[in-house]
Amino acid sequence: MAPGDHHVLVIEDELPIRRFLRASLASAGYRVSEAESGEEAFKMAARQPPDLVILDLGLPDVDGQDVLERLREWYTQPILVLSARDQESQKIRALDHGADDYVTKPFGVGELLARIRTALRHSRRTGPEATSFTVGDLRVDLTARLVYRGETEVHLTPLEYKLLVTMLKHGGKVLTHRFLLREVWGPGNSQENHYLRVFVAGLRRKLETDPARPRYILTEQGVGYRFAAEA
Ligand code: CA
Repeated sequence: MAPGDHHVLVIEDELPIRRFLRASLASAGYRVSEAESGEEAFKMAARQPPDLVILDLGLPDVDGQDVLERLREWYTQPILVLSARDQESQKIRALDHGADDYVTKPFGVGELLARIRTALRHSRRTGPEATSFTVGDLRVDLTARLVYRGETEVHLTPLEYKLLVTMLKHGGKVLTHRFLLREVWGPGNSQENHYLRVFVAGLRRKLETDPARPRYILTEQGVGYRFAAEA
C-alpha cells in the first residue's frame, strides 16, 4: 500500500509540533487529520477510524494515558506515543497499556517515519496464524519448535525458545521488561529484570553473528527490547 492510502490521526495540543507533524506526514504521502484535545480525538477517531494514531502523552484536557486506554477499548490499529525525554515511566506505562511504539521529543522526521512504517507493516500482518518466521538468516518453525541459523539448527532451552517466540510474534514492536517477564515467566515475576538480561544474553550468543552488536534482539535502553522485524 502507498502511504497515501493510510490515514494518520495526530493528537497533539502544541500547534508548532502539530504543524511539523502534519507537514512531515503529508510530504511522505500520508493523509493527516489533527485533534488538539482528547475529547476531539475520540470524536474524530470514532467518525473516521485512522490507520494509525500519533498520541502526545501531555494533553490539556484528558491525560494522554487515559486517551490511550479509552482508545484501546475498541481501536486495534497502531498507536505511537510522543513523550518528553524525562518521562521514562510514562512511556513504559503507555507501552504496557497498548501503545505500539514511542518517539521521544525532540525527534527527527526520519525516525518518526521509520517507526510509522514499521507499525503499519506490523498491523497488516493479521490473518491466519503464522507457522514459521524468517528474518535474515534466522528461521523458526513453530509447528516443529525448531530454530535455524542458515542451515544449522540452533538448540534453545524451553525458556529461551518461549522468549524468542514471544518477541517474534511482536516483531518490530517495543516490548517492555514487564511485558516480557509476564509473558514468559508468568505474572509473579514482573520485577525480575535480571532473568531477562541473562536470557537475552544467551539468545544473542546463539542467534547473533556479533552478540555485542545485535541485529535481531535490540535493546531499548531503560524500557525493554525490540525484535527487528526485518534485518
Ligand atoms: Ca503536549
